[in-house]
Amino acid sequence: MVHALVAAAALLLQQADAPQTGPQAGSGSYFQQDIRYTISARLDEPAGVLTGSGRMLYRNNSPDTLTTMAFHLYLNAFRPGSRWARREAAENGRSWYAILPDPYYAYQRLERVSVGGTEVAVRYPGAPDSTVAEFTLPTRLPPGDSLTVVLEWEARLSVVPRRQGRRGRRFDFAQWYPEVAVYDRFGWEAHPLYPEGEFFGEYGTFDVTLDLMADQVCGATGVPVSGDPGWAGARATPETQVTPQADWYGDTLHPTPYTLAPGPSSSAPGGAAPGRKLVRFYARDVEHFAFSCNPDYVYEEGRYHGTVIHALYLPGDSVSWGRGVAVTRAARALEWLDRIYGPYAWPQATLLHRIEDGGTEFPMMVMLGGAGESLILHELGHLYTYGILGNNEWKEGWLDEGFTTFQTGWNFQQRGLGVPSRQTQMLVLGLDLDGWSQPVVQPAEDYRDYGTYARMIYTKGQLICEMLRYVLGEATFERVLREYYARWRLRHVTSESFQEVAEAVSHQDLSWFFAEWLHGEPLVDYGLHKVRRRHAADGWVTDIEIERLSDGIMPVDIAVPVGDSTVIVRARGVERRETVEVRTALKPGRIELDPVRQTLDWNYLNNVEGRTWPLAGSVGRGLEQPRLGWSATTPAVRDRKVVNWLPLAWYDDAGGVTLGFQSRSNYMGRFELNEAQVTWPTGAWGSGDTLARGRWRPDYYVSLRNPVLGRAPRRETEAASWSVEGRTGERVAASLDRSPRFLGPVELQVGTALTLMAVTDARYLDRSRWDDVNTLEITSWATHTRTEESGRTSSRIELTLGERFSLELPQPPCCVLAEWVPGERSLRVGTYARGSVESRHDLRLGAFDLRFRSVAAGTLGGNLVPLQRRFFLAGADPYETFTNPFLRSAGSLFARNGVQYQAPGGGGLRGFAAASSASWLVGFGVEVGWQLVERPARQLFSAVSIAAFADGALLDRNAIGRDAAADVGVGIRAAHRVGPTSFVTRLDFPLLVTRPAAAVAGSGSDGVAKFRFVWSLEEAF
Ligand SMILES: [Zn+2]
Repeated sequence: MVHALVAAAALLLQQADAPQTGPQAGSGSYFQQDIRYTISARLDEPAGVLTGSGRMLYRNNSPDTLTTMAFHLYLNAFRPGSRWARREAAENGRSWYAILPDPYYAYQRLERVSVGGTEVAVRYPGAPDSTVAEFTLPTRLPPGDSLTVVLEWEARLSVVPRRQGRRGRRFDFAQWYPEVAVYDRFGWEAHPLYPEGEFFGEYGTFDVTLDLMADQVCGATGVPVSGDPGWAGARATPETQVTPQADWYGDTLHPTPYTLAPGPSSSAPGGAAPGRKLVRFYARDVEHFAFSCNPDYVYEEGRYHGTVIHALYLPGDSVSWGRGVAVTRAARALEWLDRIYGPYAWPQATLLHRIEDGGTEFPMMVMLGGAGESLILHELGHLYTYGILGNNEWKEGWLDEGFTTFQTGWNFQQRGLGVPSRQTQMLVLGLDLDGWSQPVVQPAEDYRDYGTYARMIYTKGQLICEMLRYVLGEATFERVLREYYARWRLRHVTSESFQEVAEAVSHQDLSWFFAEWLHGEPLVDYGLHKVRRRHAADGWVTDIEIERLSDGIMPVDIAVPVGDSTVIVRARGVERRETVEVRTALKPGRIELDPVRQTLDWNYLNNVEGRTWPLAGSVGRGLEQPRLGWSATTPAVRDRKVVNWLPLAWYDDAGGVTLGFQSRSNYMGRFELNEAQVTWPTGAWGSGDTLARGRWRPDYYVSLRNPVLGRAPRRETEAASWSVEGRTGERVAASLDRSPRFLGPVELQVGTALTLMAVTDARYLDRSRWDDVNTLEITSWATHTRTEESGRTSSRIELTLGERFSLELPQPPCCVLAEWVPGERSLRVGTYARGSVESRHDLRLGAFDLRFRSVAAGTLGGNLVPLQRRFFLAGADPYETFTNPFLRSAGSLFARNGVQYQAPGGGGLRGFAAASSASWLVGFGVEVGWQLVERPARQLFSAVSIAAFADGALLDRNAIGRDAAADVGVGIRAAHRVGPTSFVTRLDFPLLVTRPAAAVAGSGSDGVAKFRFVWSLEEAF
C-alpha cells in the first residue's frame, strides 16, 4: 500500500505541476529486466524429489546498479514453519502445512549458488520462513551489464495440494525452481508467500530439460523441442492429431541445453538412463515455467487460429473433458479473449486436469480441477491478465482476478446466460455495508483474512471493471481494453498503467474513479429528492433533483420515460444536491435513477418516484416484488423489496379457528425485514368453557427489523408490537456482530432487548405454563460459535432482569357497584432475575453425528418469578414459543393433550411433560445419529437417520419431587425441503424415564420403561 500510495502521490504531483523528469513515476521510466533460464531437472519416483541444476543469465536494464539479488523458493510455503502455515492456522484454526510430517510436505532447498563462478552465501531474511532467499553479488551489476547465476537445488511438492502437489505418480509442478524476484522501479519485489496473493515473475526465456520416467505424459509451459512429452502415446483416439510445434521458435533456441552436474542420480549427458527419457521444453516471453506429469493422461488437441490447444485429462474424464469438450471450450474462450484484448501471445495453450480442485494459471497453461466452461474462461482469461499483462499479484490482485472474473461474467451476459452482476453486487455490498471491506489495492497479506481478500480482489475487482464500462460507455471501454493490451503486452502492468490508457483513450480525467474504487471503500447512495413537471410552450420541462446520501461518487443515469421510449440523462453525481432539467414533447412518466443498476447504489428503494413505507403493503410503485405463498425464506433481491403474503389459519381453545394473513418483506435479504400479521379469532369450534367468541376485534403482530434508515455496520435492530390471543406487548432490541472476521471460524454476537408482555385476556393462557401477570424485562445475551472441519461449538449466555406487575382490582361487592372507587386499584410489583448458560457441540465422525448440549439455568426471586419465566424441563419456555401460533395458547394444535410436541430448549429432557418447570436446573443431553439414507435431490425425506439419546438434569426438588431426572431412548429424523425452506421432522421414543409420573403423557402408575413418544419440527439441540 505504501508503494502504491507513493506512486499515486507522485503521479498526482506530476499532473499538478509542469512536466517533471521524476525518475520513478509514470510509464516513461518503465524498464524490464532480461532473464534466460537454462534448467536441467530429474524427477525421482516414487520419492517425488526433483534434483535441479540451472543457469540464469540476467541482464540489468534498470537505471540502478544492483548489489544484491533475491529469489523465491515458494515450495517452502507448503511446509511447517512457513508464514503461509502460520497465517492459515491463525485464520482457520488449522493448517495442514503446519503439521505435515516429513515425506509429505513440500520443500525447495538451494544446494549451491554461484555468480560469475564465485560461490555466494544465501540469506533467508524471513527465517524460519524460507520462501525468499537473497545474496550479495560478488561484484556490482551496473545498468546494461549482465551476469550468470548457476543454481543447484532439490525440490519436492506437497501431498496436500495447493497450486502444486503430488499424488502417486501425478505431479503438478509450479514454483519448483529458484525463481528470481522481479526488479522494477520499486526495487526487488521479493515477497514471502501467503495464502493471500499469488505471483509476480520476470519475463524471460526458459530452456528446460526434464529427466522423467519413460511412461510419463507431460504438459508444460513452452513447446517440446526434443524428446517425447508422451502425447502421441496418450491420444484419445488413433485419429487424434498431435502437434508439438517443435519448430515454433526456429533456430533461435539457446545453442545447447544445460545438463545436470554429474552426480549419483544423474543420467549421462545427452542420453537418458534405461526406463527414463529426456524431454526438452522451450518458452519465450513467459514469467514462469510450470509443468505437470501423469502416466495416465489422455491427450486431445484443438486449435484457435495459429494457437494449438492441448488438453491432458484423466481416463475417467472422457465425458466431461473428452470428445472435444475441453478443447472446444478453450477455443471459444481464446476467440473471445482475442476479441476483447487482442491476439494471443504464445504458440500454445495447455489445459490439464490437476490434483487439486479449482484452477491455477501459468504461462501457456492452466491447471484445472474440472473442465467447466466458466472455469476455463476464467483461467484462460488469466493467460491474458497475469500471463501477457503481468501484474504484481501481491499488490494489485484485481488486475488479474478482477479482470478475468469480469470478462467471464461479460461473456456469459453477452451470450444471454444470466446477468450475474446484481447478485455479485449484493456480495460486495454485504461487506461494504458491514464495514468489512478493505481497499482493493493494498498488499495482499494486509487483508484481514482470505475471505475479505477474495471478495475485494475478485468480486469488487469485477464490479470496478463493470463500473468503468458504465462510466465510459461500452464502445470506449472496449477500445480502452484493446489499447491497454496493445501497449502493455508482455510487460509488467500496474493500476496506473491501466488508468493512463483509460484516460488517454477516453480523454477524461479518471483520477476520481480510480482513487475512490481502488484506494477507498465508498458507499454509493443516490436518492430521488424531488421531481417537478411543468408544461412549457413546446412541451414539458421536468426538473429532477437528486440527492447524494453517501460518500461514494458515481455519475447517475436518470431514466425518463416519454411515451413508448425512455430518455436517459446523466447527472454528475458530485454535489450533495443536483438538479437536471429534461425537456420532452410529452409528459414524462415515472422517473428512475440508475436504470441499468451499475452505480453500486446500495439503496434502490429511494431511486424511483413514489413513496415507500416500512410496513408491507406499501405503495412504493415498482419497488416491490409481491409473492404469495408458504415460505419461511423469501428471496433476496438487489433492487426490490420482496413482500411475501401468506394466508393464516390455526386453532386454539379460546379463539377457536383463527383466520388471517401475514406479510413478510425483505430488501437485499438484510434490510426491511418487516412482518405484519392480522388475525381474527372466529371462535368456531372453540372450547365452551374458555371461549372468547364474539370478540370480533382483530389481533395484530407487527415487527420492523433493520430499516434502511439508520443503518449501521454489523448492527441489527428490531421494534415489535402485538396484541395477540390475550397478550399485548412491545419489544425493542438491538444486537451487534462482534465476529473477528467476515468469514471465519468464530462468530460472536451480543445483544440486548427490552420486552413488555401483558396479559389482557387470561382465557387464552395455558395455566400450567403461564400466570396471569405482566412482565417488563431487560435481557442481554451473547452468543459465540466456532465452526471447524470436524464440527461446531456454540454457546450462549443470557441474563434477564424482570419486573412482574399486575393491576388488582378490588372485588366490587355485589350490588354496590356505585360505591367502587377507581383509586383503590393497586399495582402489585416484584423484581426477579433469570440467567442461563448453554453450550452445544456438534461433531461428525464418519457416518456418525454426535451432539452434546449442556445448560445451567436459574432464577432469583422465589415466588415472585412468574410461571412463564421459570425454566421448563422438557423444552422452550412460553416466551420463546410465543410467536408460534401452534404453541402459543391453551389448546393450540401442537400444545394440545396427546399431541406431545417437543420444542427444543430449557432443560431438554424430552421425555418429560411440557408443563414441568423448575426454578433452577443443570442439564445435559447427548445424541448419536447414524445416517441411513441420503438423497439430496429429493424434496421430502432427502436424508433419514436414526439416533440414540440420553438427557439428564439436576434440578430443584420442588419441580417434580426429585433432585434429578433423566431419560434414555431412540429416535428417527428426516430432512425435507419445500421451496427454499428446509426443515426436519423428528420422532423420539424416550423409552426409559426416571420419574414416570412427570413424564410426557405419564401417570403415577406408569413404569420407568414404557412406550412413549414426542415429535418435533426441529432438532433436539
Ligand atoms: Zn483467478
